[in-house]
Amino acid sequence: MKCVVCHGDNIKVAEVKEEFTVGNDIVYILVKVPVCKTCGERYYDRRTMQFLEQVEVNLPQTKADLKEVGKVLMYDKSMPVL
Ligand SMILES: [Zn+2]
Repeated sequence: MKCVVCHGDNIKVAEVKEEFTVGNDIVYILVKVPVCKTCGERYYDRRTMQFLEQVEVNLPQTKADLKEVGKVLMYDKSMPVL
C-alpha cells in the first residue's frame, strides 16, 4: 500500500486519538488505523468510519462511557497589540 498523499510506503497501523467536541468538552476516542509515518495521513476503513460516526451521534447520551483524563483550559489573556 502506498500513501496517496506523499507516495511513501511506510504505512503502519498505529493507535490514534480522534477528537470530538461536545459543548466545551473534548472527547478522545482511540482507534487503530494505518498511518503514513512519512506525512501523517490516516487511512480509515469503512468499519472504523462507521464506529466513529456512531460514537459521535451517541456522545451526548453516553456520559457513563466517558472518563476524565485531563482538563481543557482557555488562556485568559489576549495577544498584545502592537
Ligand atoms: Zn504519506
